[in-house]
Amino acid sequence: MRITADRDRCVGAGMCALLAPTVFEQDDDEGRVVLLAAVPPGEHAAVGEAVQCCPSGALTIDEP
Ligand code: SF4
Repeated sequence: MRITADRDRCVGAGMCALLAPTVFEQDDDEGRVVLLAAVPPGEHAAVGEAVQCCPSGALTIDEP
């Protein structure tokens, strides 16, 4: 799985970091998303849920 995070669209809601904390973090300044790592195999479901729950549509799955 490969994902992209559009930091310009991110509104810092934090759902992604809550649902998949090994993959997503929020920066200290504005709380916008930061990708921490490639998606580990065991995290696919959590990342998929994060993409669906993101209120700004900032997360995109490029490769399932
Ligand atoms: S869930 Fe979406 S809006 Fe919220 S921090 Fe993550 S990428 Fe940004």
